[in-house]
Amino acid sequence: MPGETEPPPRAGRRRAGRGAGPPVTPMIAQYLDIKSRHPGALLFYRMGDFYEMFFDDAVRAAAALDIALTKRGRHEGADIPMCGVPVHSHETYLERLIRAGFKVAICEQTEDPAQARARGGKSVVAREVARIVTPGTIVEEGLLEARAHNHLAAAARVNGAWGLAWLDLSTGGFSVAAPEEEALPALLAQVAPGELLAPEALAQAPPLAEWAGAATPLPAARFDSAAAARRLREHYGIASLDAFGAFGRAEIAAAGALVDYVHLTQKGRRARLSPPRRQAEGAAMAMDAATRRNLELTRALDGGRRGSLLDVVDRTRTSGGGRLLASRLAAPLTDPGAIAARLDMVAFFAEAGAAREAVAEALAGCPDIDRALGRLCLGRGGPRDLAALRDALARGGALRRLLEGGAPGELAPPPAGLARAAARLGVHGALVDRLERALAPELPLLARDGGFIAEGYLAALDEQRALRDESRRLVGGLQAEYAARSGVPGLKIKHNNVLGYFIEVGAAHGDRLLAGGDFIHRQTMAGAVRFSTVKLAELADRIARAGDRAAALELELFDDLAGEAAARADDIAAAAAALAEIDVAAAGAVLAAERGYCRPRVDDGPDFVVEGGRHPVVEALAAGGGGAEFVANDCRLAAGGRLWLLTGPNMAGKSTFLRQNALIAILAQAGCYVPARACAIGAVDRVFSRVGAADDLARGRSTFMVEMVETAAILNQAGPRSLVILDEIGRGTATWDGLSIAWAAIEHLHAANRCRALFATHYRELTALAARLDDLACHTMRVREWQGEAVFLYEVAPGAADRSYGVHVARLAGLPESALARAEEVLRTLESGEGGSPAARLAHDLPLFSAPPAAPSAPAAEPPALALLREADADALAPREALELIYRLKALLDSPAPPEAP
Ligand code: ADP
Repeated sequence: MPGETEPPPRAGRRRAGRGAGPPVTPMIAQYLDIKSRHPGALLFYRMGDFYEMFFDDAVRAAAALDIALTKRGRHEGADIPMCGVPVHSHETYLERLIRAGFKVAICEQTEDPAQARARGGKSVVAREVARIVTPGTIVEEGLLEARAHNHLAAAARVNGAWGLAWLDLSTGGFSVAAPEEEALPALLAQVAPGELLAPEALAQAPPLAEWAGAATPLPAARFDSAAAARRLREHYGIASLDAFGAFGRAEIAAAGALVDYVHLTQKGRRARLSPPRRQAEGAAMAMDAATRRNLELTRALDGGRRGSLLDVVDRTRTSGGGRLLASRLAAPLTDPGAIAARLDMVAFFAEAGAAREAVAEALAGCPDIDRALGRLCLGRGGPRDLAALRDALARGGALRRLLEGGAPGELAPPPAGLARAAARLGVHGALVDRLERALAPELPLLARDGGFIAEGYLAALDEQRALRDESRRLVGGLQAEYAARSGVPGLKIKHNNVLGYFIEVGAAHGDRLLAGGDFIHRQTMAGAVRFSTVKLAELADRIARAGDRAAALELELFDDLAGEAAARADDIAAAAAALAEIDVAAAGAVLAAERGYCRPRVDDGPDFVVEGGRHPVVEALAAGGGGAEFVANDCRLAAGGRLWLLTGPNMAGKSTFLRQNALIAILAQAGCYVPARACAIGAVDRVFSRVGAADDLARGRSTFMVEMVETAAILNQAGPRSLVILDEIGRGTATWDGLSIAWAAIEHLHAANRCRALFATHYRELTALAARLDDLACHTMRVREWQGEAVFLYEVAPGAADRSYGVHVARLAGLPESALARAEEVLRTLESGEGGSPAARLAHDLPLFSAPPAAPSAPAAEPPALALLREADADALAPREALELIYRLKALLDSPAPPEAP
């Protein structure tokens, strides 16, 4: 929190300064004091069964939550606005507030009201902020997406070098990196932080600006690298950070700021964090935010998970497996050895069908052990978290026996990675056994609700429970006794939180009981009168005392069990990681079997060869929706054709082909099987994509501007090991303008970037480049004309498109027939190439739409090249323009003649 540590004596000063006016009540004084220490957060102020908010907090929260704003008392001559949420359902409200961008400080009562009363009449119950909930520090199951990490990140800069650290508080995963400034945006896109801590001066700086919405700016002092190193050493209880590897100062500053913030928001509770692991520069395939969005890796364009790559390839059974797969797709590897190790594990399960099934079965319904452990270690776990450990560790044990004892139907011994994972599942029999014996079949969410320890586990507890139950039975007997004695058959003994146990009769019988001697009047209601007796009070007291003792025993046991889990946290976390890894491998094999995916080969070579590749999402949609069969296509980017220029009409399948090859590279390097017949690729260090056009009006950029910004990033950054897919660049501007940009971009990719690239375009003129660029190969989407209609075959074939078929697509889209006829006519006039500039030709040669010509005029035969020359003003041409004119002329020479007009 900004300003968290400065002691702001605002409330105190105000009180002292105001001699006149009503005195501030002790409670409001306490509230103001606590609030002044958490200025950046809404204060949830615990009062009995509610969290109340006051003053400005109340006004803002009531509006955000759409709940009633009331008032309570007066302060400085005005009513105090108030609103509140019930404690038992506060998570829902918390979630909405966090999503709306608030931070919430949760202030609990730290003593019993009775203790406060004992201190004297005016004492308020002591309260303290127990934690601050921020978007990056949530651990509750209900507030988190089960299959996605929620990252808290921190960025720091020391002497011009950047450090980025990120962790998932709910699972304890902790990573750091030291990216070059230009690589920082792609790394942030990989991490996708829910909250990003940054020094105040940098929060809006260009590399971080994209994440301004998630930013929590902090004073620069929190990023001091010396203090950060000290904090890290303290947190991990180590003498030197060297144990973790050689981190730069910026990395340490970022990691230290994270740990510091966790301490601050968790109010000193020690979160379980794994030692920070370094993501080395270049170890992960880099993709910027636009590329991830365009390729719909983990989210579809509408922001949801459905329709994303992750959605169609995820067959994992556990939340931990789901999160691991998502992280792998977000950061595919570049090292062929590491990729092969992952693929070996999938291959093992792909070949051993029975093992695959057995693992899937063992993991079905397995609880989220990572997050349960995280909550228990933070002191925020409950009995169900203990049960989650019990169940997940038991399954881990079964899995280990299965893998080590020789899987059923197994063909080969498990590969090294799988054997290592099986070993890391560990042996947790004693803990599992203890939890099995200790926990009752039905478990409450919170330990303080009690009743979660099984009968027979602890004699002292059974005793108190028996005492309580016996007394309850006696209360039942008392009811029968009193009813018989008073002659009031409707007499009942009831219980509520205010009166405790009481005797209730209808209003008409009240006097009869009073006459009976030992009944003591407690309360008169509209239709009933309530009494107590000495004997009932005694029994009630016994029940309460036994209940209290039982509850205390249960809480003690809970702490003990949670403590045992925390003591073994590292082993349990290792088992959780191994479970996730095995889940991902087996799930990958399930997917491969289901959809006919193959094992890719990734090496250090320069080529990119996919045979019979398919688009995983489009294919799945076609299969699911009964659509036409997906047509597989080859892609062979190698010497003599590292760049493919793909022409073809709209809707012919160009974008699909481009994307499918990028997705196959990502899947392969994430260690997954791929939708292809065969696949052998040289590891891709970065994927760049410029696909589709989207306005970014929110940031004041037009479609064309977005396109050019993304294209600029590609031309500036792509290298020989990169894979670039460019779809229709230059489309957002005038024809010649766009053609020139596309032309120049291809030349640049070919000569300067020397990357592997797929370039889709509707500019057929570009195919002329193939004659001049050794490594450019032309391909086209095949179209067959049948009875005057174009039929898209979705086949990629060598060559160039002969025409655009735009009018054909317009017909498919349902343009009126008259408009279609007119469009064909305009096209013919344009393609005739005669009579000056295109605009001049249209203006002069074409009668108006309202007066359709009887018959189209047959084109005279001036070749388009001559027309182009006629247009050019030789005296006004700059040398560069002259050169371009020659290129264009040559393009016209090389491109096929326009189709004859009928
Ligand atoms: P383009 O980029 O050429 O305009 P798209 O790639 O957007 O075309 O493809 C248009 C539609 O054609 C897709 O939505 C899909 O339904 C279908 N399609 C594309 N490729 C294939 C294929 N290989 N097999 C079957 N259908 C395909």
